[in-house]
Amino acid sequence: MAARILDGTKIAGEIRAEVAAQAKALALSGVRPGLAVVLVGHNPASEVYVRGKVKSSQEVGLYSEQHALPETTTTDELLALIADLNRRDEIDGILVQLPLPAHVDAKKVLLAVDPAKDVDGFHPMNVGYLSTQRPGLVPCTPAGVMEILKRGGIPVAGQEVVVVGRSDIVGKPVAMLLLNQNATVTVCHSKTRDLPGVCRRADILVAAIGRAGMVTRDYVKPGATVIDVGINRITDRSEFDRFFPGNKAGNKKREETFLAKGSTLVGDVHPEVAEIAGAITPVPGGVGPLTIAMLMANTVKAAMLRRGI
Ligand code: NDP
Repeated sequence: MAARILDGTKIAGEIRAEVAAQAKALALSGVRPGLAVVLVGHNPASEVYVRGKVKSSQEVGLYSEQHALPETTTTDELLALIADLNRRDEIDGILVQLPLPAHVDAKKVLLAVDPAKDVDGFHPMNVGYLSTQRPGLVPCTPAGVMEILKRGGIPVAGQEVVVVGRSDIVGKPVAMLLLNQNATVTVCHSKTRDLPGVCRRADILVAAIGRAGMVTRDYVKPGATVIDVGINRITDRSEFDRFFPGNKAGNKKREETFLAKGSTLVGDVHPEVAEIAGAITPVPGGVGPLTIAMLMANTVKAAMLRRGI
């Protein structure tokens, strides 16, 4: 039987509506949560992400401002901007879009963000809060994964969970959130022995690898929940055919888009996994939409935590 689709676009819409209602309620007491997004240089993907973040802020009724700085910006200039944003009371969230140019000391810049305004949840202070279960700001994509599980009715406590990927941005924080919710968590990476065998133990499998379609059906226990965090762009026709063989239902539409745009987005999980999983997130339309929705939620949360609401 085909897996139940966990619809991230729908869940993100619900969260945005809740954030908009919270923003409206805060406005009654004169508070308008504000987000500052800092972008350095002209990375096309980053520009798209930043536009999405600013647009979404406006839609849910948050104040937002964008600081687009030239590629030549120095670490000291960025630190001065961060210090100013840290000081300004109308700014509740500061997001520095990564990657920063190679000459900028990214770690120093991220460390300079006031942890109370760190809506990306990357500051070591927030990492520590997460691992010691104190209130703080949690990274957006991992928080989105938890919302999908909760709102998708997938129980977590006591379940065997395998997370593939151990990055500071996705793998580690998602593993910590799952552990905090009483899952039995195994974290895998490129040095893991018998990765398919370890993954097959999972009731919930989270793939955050960055390798198109690496998780095939032999990685998945029938009936398991599969959360695909990966976002990979494929442009090669033979690779497209590996993902979407022409004789399968639904693949025709993908093919039309692929032919028109010359590329399509796929996850770390091969679509064939949907034939044996119990529930699965699609790509696109799974975890992706949650990331911006959780950024909005984090900005409101930061505004409330800072004011002791
Ligand atoms: P990183 O490259 O930082 O981390 C990848 C992880 O996968 C590493 O821990 C690496 O292991 C592991 N890995 C790589 N190859 C293998 C392999 N062959 N076998 C087992 N493990 C492997 O990526 P991110 O965590 O930043 O992102 C992961 C994916 O999620 C990407 O596709 C990215 O685009 C996507 N993403 C999606 C977001 C969204 O909004 N949906 C947001 C952020 C990321 P090791 O540590 O040993 O090198």
